[in-house]
Amino acid sequence: DFAKSKTLAQQRQYLPIFSIREELLRVIRENQVIVVVGETGSGKTTQLTQYLHEVGYTNNGIVGCTQPRRVAAMSVAKRVSEEMETELGDKVGYAIRFEDVTGSNTVIKYMTDGVLLRETLKDSDLEKYRIIVMDEAHERSLSTDVLFGILKKVVARRRDFKLIVTSATLNAQKFSDFFGSVPIFHIPGRTFPVQTLYSKTPCEDYVEGAVKQAMAIHITSAPGDILIFMTGQDEIEATCYALQERMEQLASKKEAPKLLILPIYSQLPADLQAKIFENAEDGARKCIVATNIAETSLTVDGIFYVIDTGYGKIKVYNPRMGMDALQVFPVSRAAADQRAGRAGRTGPGTCYRLYTESAYLNEMLPSPVPEIQRTNLGNVVLLLKSLKIDNLLDFDFMDPPPQENILNSMYQLWVLGALNNVGDLTDIGWKMVEFPLDPPLAKMLLMGEQLGCIDEVLTIVSMLSVPSVFFRPKDRVEESDAGREKFFVQESDHLTLLNVYKQWTSNNYRGDWCNDHFLHVKGLRKAREVRSQLLDILKTLKIPLTSCGLDWDVVRMAICSAYFHNSARLKGVGEYVNCRKGMPCHLHPSSALYGLGYTPDYVVYHDLILTAKEYMQCATAVEPQWLAELGPMFFSVKDSDTSMIEHKKKQKQEKTAMEEEME
Ligand code: ADP
Ligand code: MG
Repeated sequence: DFAKSKTLAQQRQYLPIFSIREELLRVIRENQVIVVVGETGSGKTTQLTQYLHEVGYTNNGIVGCTQPRRVAAMSVAKRVSEEMETELGDKVGYAIRFEDVTGSNTVIKYMTDGVLLRETLKDSDLEKYRIIVMDEAHERSLSTDVLFGILKKVVARRRDFKLIVTSATLNAQKFSDFFGSVPIFHIPGRTFPVQTLYSKTPCEDYVEGAVKQAMAIHITSAPGDILIFMTGQDEIEATCYALQERMEQLASKKEAPKLLILPIYSQLPADLQAKIFENAEDGARKCIVATNIAETSLTVDGIFYVIDTGYGKIKVYNPRMGMDALQVFPVSRAAADQRAGRAGRTGPGTCYRLYTESAYLNEMLPSPVPEIQRTNLGNVVLLLKSLKIDNLLDFDFMDPPPQENILNSMYQLWVLGALNNVGDLTDIGWKMVEFPLDPPLAKMLLMGEQLGCIDEVLTIVSMLSVPSVFFRPKDRVEESDAGREKFFVQESDHLTLLNVYKQWTSNNYRGDWCNDHFLHVKGLRKAREVRSQLLDILKTLKIPLTSCGLDWDVVRMAICSAYFHNSARLKGVGEYVNCRKGMPCHLHPSSALYGLGYTPDYVVYHDLILTAKEYMQCATAVEPQWLAELGPMFFSVKDSDTSMIEHKKKQKQEKTAMEEEME
């Protein structure tokens, strides 16, 4: 109601940050680096940049604001452009990977931390920025953590540059210490008490638990919107579907109050994402079903009830498997408290925790583990190497990653041919840095160049860089599965993607054709955009576009060359084991290779998803000799596996011995 009755300008003045505007600007004026702490929703992300603009910092440079999540960067930029009454992409813009909505007028630029990190490759002093706001630093995303080290140097080199680190209540002291005890500025909070209720017994099925709880609130409790935290897209869709069903059942028996059910997760199309901020028609209750994106990055007003499953999906590097996997974990206590806090923004609220108090106290970690300590560092290593930071073990990390992770990532880059035997970037490595892609995908492209099929590989890489294009509506599952099977290229899910794209191309990129074939037209359009951007990079590198025509075996070779670390050997029906680590991996039922009476001896796969089983996502059949020829280390020179790691360890030992001697 507030949003409806008040103008945007009035809404801005009502935010907690507004009451301390002058004081905040004074502290910024007097210091080169400060840390700003404030409750979620106090106005840090949307207001700070505008204040800086209003007092003239944008007269000589851009104010940049980094976000760990793309959705936040897009949605906040949109909001701020509305508040400033300018077109998005004009004075206010955003940049995320493969999408730059800024122009020559842009003075406030929201971007993912990954985008800024890549910009440091081209301009190590970030000359065009007057101020950087490193927002949501408490999230401790991988790129933010690397930026900390890089920006510390920029601060030392450029007297005219300012850095503002913002954080929800966590970690402020640590950030301040890192930059040499810089001031911490607190925005006074305006929050209401939240009553927390625990589940008496552990919840067996939290989707069902959440649906029941939401329905109970909807039927018996006072007005106020509901926010449910789930772990990911599938669960969110299942929850929304179940809620819809219950509502229909209810409506068939009696007059039921309206409930507007809204999902939000990062892969959801932007126009649907924006719906969570809109008011429901005739005052109906909203029920938002979200990932941890709604924990701190996006603030929705009007939430009085939070239902917390206590779980979240995070990317973890699993040293046993030698790779990252998205895994469902209990969230930390700090995250659980953030979630609960969402219920107390507009008035006193209630948080229903679908776990026991004892689980909260005894099983949850006090705070989340920084991403840099739990994920693959391939990209980071490549990037830092190209910035001429030779000894990564010496980089100024706030919390250094485990040495084992660094060495493992270096090993993987060496396998891909990006690093040579002494750990320096090779020619291929230097080229790989140019692409905003994970190292294996960059390698696939460059192998496509060597094998004369870069046109095909480009399409595959682009399709892998967008959300799945296959549309599977719950009420037409069989029909859509049959539709998908028509595109199958039996030996490869990668080639299936290529096939889909090619057919779309020959149907003049038509939207209705996509609808007829159960394909998301938006996803395909996005892939086309990504493709054209990657093509631009190829042009600047003077790599010509070559095609192999219909001989797709070489394409599979290129795919193979990128995924040795994800190669697997047939063990039973649909069951494989990873060649290197020996752990089981299963063909996914939706794979082109599944159930077609054709089970190849060797496959490589894009990703492993851990659900009930370890499922390979996007698999391709390969010949064992390709694995041997393109990546000899696993099959013949197995010892070299460890030799480089040993080499590095020895180097390190020698170094410490030397240091000790010198003391
Ligand atoms: P913080 O960064 O301190 O968590 P924000 O600046 O993100 O706070 O949010 C300030 C206010 O702006 C909140 O009340 C939030 O609901 C509102 N807001 C932010 N983004 C949008 C949007 N896209 N649409 C509508 N309101 C928004
Ligand atoms: Mg924010």
